[in-house]
Amino acid sequence: MPSTTLSPSDALTELASYSSPDGLSLSDLHASPSGIGTYDDFLLLPGHINFQATEVSTRTQITRNVSLNTPFMSSPMDTVTETEMAISMALMGGIGVVHHNQPAASQAAMVRAVKRHENGFITSPVCLTPAHVVANVLDIKERLGFCGIPITDTGELGGKLLGLVTRRDVQFRPPTTPLHEVMTTEVVTAPEGVTLAEAQHLLRENKKGKLPIVDASGRLKSLLARSDLLKNQTYPMASKHPQTKQLFCAAAIGTRPADKDRLALLVDAGLDIVVLDSSQGNSSFQIEMIKWIKATYPKLEVIAGNVVTREQAANLIAAGADALRVGMGSGSICITQEVMAVGRPQATAVYAVAEFAGRFGVPVIADGGIGNVGHVAKALALGAGAVMMGSLLAGTTEAPGEYFWHDGKRVKTYRGMGSLEAMEQRASSSSSAGKSGGAANGVGVKQALKGPVENAATSRYFSESSAVKVAQGVSGDVQDKGSVKPFLQYLHAGLQHSMQDMGLRSVPELRRGVGSGQVRFEKRTVNGVVEGGVHGLNSFTKRLFA
Ligand code: GDP
Ligand code: 5GP
Repeated sequence: MPSTTLSPSDALTELASYSSPDGLSLSDLHASPSGIGTYDDFLLLPGHINFQATEVSTRTQITRNVSLNTPFMSSPMDTVTETEMAISMALMGGIGVVHHNQPAASQAAMVRAVKRHENGFITSPVCLTPAHVVANVLDIKERLGFCGIPITDTGELGGKLLGLVTRRDVQFRPPTTPLHEVMTTEVVTAPEGVTLAEAQHLLRENKKGKLPIVDASGRLKSLLARSDLLKNQTYPMASKHPQTKQLFCAAAIGTRPADKDRLALLVDAGLDIVVLDSSQGNSSFQIEMIKWIKATYPKLEVIAGNVVTREQAANLIAAGADALRVGMGSGSICITQEVMAVGRPQATAVYAVAEFAGRFGVPVIADGGIGNVGHVAKALALGAGAVMMGSLLAGTTEAPGEYFWHDGKRVKTYRGMGSLEAMEQRASSSSSAGKSGGAANGVGVKQALKGPVENAATSRYFSESSAVKVAQGVSGDVQDKGSVKPFLQYLHAGLQHSMQDMGLRSVPELRRGVGSGQVRFEKRTVNGVVEGGVHGLNSFTKRLFA
């Protein structure tokens, strides 16, 4: 400390005389005696702000070849991700991973529904012939959600376009009415070869609901839907395939031989990313599976895991993984660390694996233990490309399962995939083809109503085939959170504010800042955590967003 008071104008020169900036670099935090630990064991220090929070880009790379506008992924759990969640996650700029605690055919149907939800050119539109009847259209509406159907002479794409049936054509008509009696024959079309932008312009101008694209001899080549223009406008952040404009969809599988058949169905449904769902990914089964998938489906991105150490990561990277899922025992429903004595505090695990995998351009997904926006920001600062969330998204309208009342609160079931309840459902869907049943509290009701099981659900935990099943998770419930869409908006805006506080405009800037030591960290003591929470109030209400 200088004995004389310095002039305020010398503050920056004086600052430069310090040998290192305030706080710790991430590598120094890791090297500190107690290491990094959990997300709550450290904080980031603020940086300099000269921009608005809304200017912060949260775009991030989640696998070698897929980048999204937000780093949010939903867990492949049967109380978290089915069709509705996967669609909402993708519309809001993240991605959902459809769970595999169900027969392969129903998982593939979910993936197909996500892929069909939004399109540029609909390249395989469902078509009918004039001889089909209104009931056929209603059936398509029921199964696939739309009823704008081109009518061709063959009832297929490539047939001569004869008309179009829309919702209003079939409304109030007896189910047996043939379509030639109700279809519109004056159809505005666009010629084959039209660009997507031109076709969308035409659709906007002529105010029609559908725009069939036909070749010179009037044969149907593809279809455009006006509702896709609206979806595009309403969800500007959506995670879409750059060419097809379809939403990105991921799904989980196991590493057993039957999972290869399951994957074939998923790929046929349009799957973009497969997640190899294992609690301990460093196994010969997984290594063989990664190699097989990369050889069989070279365009499919493979997220391998779970891992928590460099050594586990190295095996999966060498096998060809396009991303690694990191976490063992940090999930909110998880008892792995307690029962197996194996695992790692999540923040340390994310840092250790991301530091290593980053050398090979392999992104890391921080899976489990995300309890608030701050945890997301911390996971990214530790090197993760994305976070995977279960409990934060459970209990939303889009999560599978019915609401029920528990102690005066409206809740939905949330359970670990290694809980006995989830394992029992897997066993019953394998053994009781077509029987009703399913887990308590509304979960598995849809499952129970499904038809005969063609390809049994697969496993994540190695103990499932053992005589005694050892649980690695619990089953509980979470309170009704309303729709996941405003919640994801909140997470996104919160992350933008967090990065603004750090003085960073984008994830690559964050990555560079952490790498160069410019972004600084601070260890938290137990008292520090208490101080950082709400304290000293008689009572309070914690509203997170409005
Ligand atoms: P419709 O008026 O009942 O056909 O429904 P909308 O036009 O409101 O919605 C159709 C949505 O389903 C759009 O987002 C399409 O991209 C999507 N979709 C996916 N596949 C098909 C298909 O084969 N035919 C039609 N009509 N829409 C499809
Ligand atoms: P959460 O976001 O609720 O903290 O954690 C979700 C993550 O926990 C999932 O993505 C998955 O990796 C993990 N998980 C899901 N079910 C179980 C389970 O039964 N046991 C363990 N150990 N982990 C689970």
